[in-house]
Formats: sequence, structure tokens, C-alpha cells
Amino acid sequence: MNKFLSRRTFILIPTMSILKIIFKPMQVLASSLVSKEEWKLSKDEWKAKLSPESYYILREEGTERAFSSQLNNEKRKGIFHCLGCNLPLFSSDKKYDSGTGWPSFWDSIQGSVETKVDFKLIVPRTEYHCSRCGGHQGHVFNDGPLPTGKRYCNNGLALRFVPD
Ligand SMILES: [Zn+2]
Repeated sequence: MNKFLSRRTFILIPTMSILKIIFKPMQVLASSLVSKEEWKLSKDEWKAKLSPESYYILREEGTERAFSSQLNNEKRKGIFHCLGCNLPLFSSDKKYDSGTGWPSFWDSIQGSVETKVDFKLIVPRTEYHCSRCGGHQGHVFNDGPLPTGKRYCNNGLALRFVPD
């Protein structure tokens, strides 16, 4: 009997830790799906919520003119939120002047953006969007500063800056 129990425990412990690994990400996914559902708005609902310029960027993957956004020169401490759903996307301590004319960051707030590849300029680029409302923010390139080497090139019209 003792022998049987100890064998069972031996099997049970690794099984439980595997289950923990499997179920933890599932729970996170489930909760993020719930909040995503709330942000599935129709075209007209988005149009009512956003300026035509921001609608073009966020919902039609448009790009604003370089050097047109005041946020390009924003140097105060604070957080840059998604203009669509207000999710915090970037912190000012990861912002830098890339010289491109768009607000640039070398890292995003963890889990706040998701990426996909687009071919709008024929050459494949990595588009990124808000992980909650799906609003297009910009493109991410591999020519940014250390420690990440990333350059998140963001449209200012897709962001709302909240100073500390
Ligand atoms: Zn959003």
C-alpha cells in the first residue's frame, strides 16, 4: 500500500505542475478575451468615437505625416495610452528621438501590443496594434537602441498622452 501511494505521489506531482503551466496562460487568455469582446465596435461606433484622422490610423491602418504629431516632441514623464480604448501602451522612459518624425519607443508595456506582418509597401513590415481594441498603432523595426534593439514607430494620432 505504501509503495503504491508513493508511486502515485511521484506521478501526481509532475502532473500537477504541468497542469499549472497549461491552465495559467489559459486563464489569462480567457480574461483578455472578455475585455476584447467589449471593444468589438462597429465601424459607425468607432467613427462616432474618433476624429476622422484617428479613425483612419486606428481602424484603417493609415499613417500620419512625419513630424505632424506634437507627441513626437513630447518629453514629459508619463504614459502613452491607446486613443481607441485607453489601454496603457508605452511609458515615457522608453521613448527616444529616432529622428523619423514619429513618436518612437524602444519597448512597449508588456502585453499591450500584438504584431502581424503587412505588405503595404511590398517589403514585409511588422505592424503592431493595441492588444485590447485591435487599433493599429504603427510598425516595429529592428533598428532601435539597446537594450531591445527595437523601434516602435507610432502614430501620434493613435495615442493619448497622460503626464505623471
Ligand atoms: Zn486600444
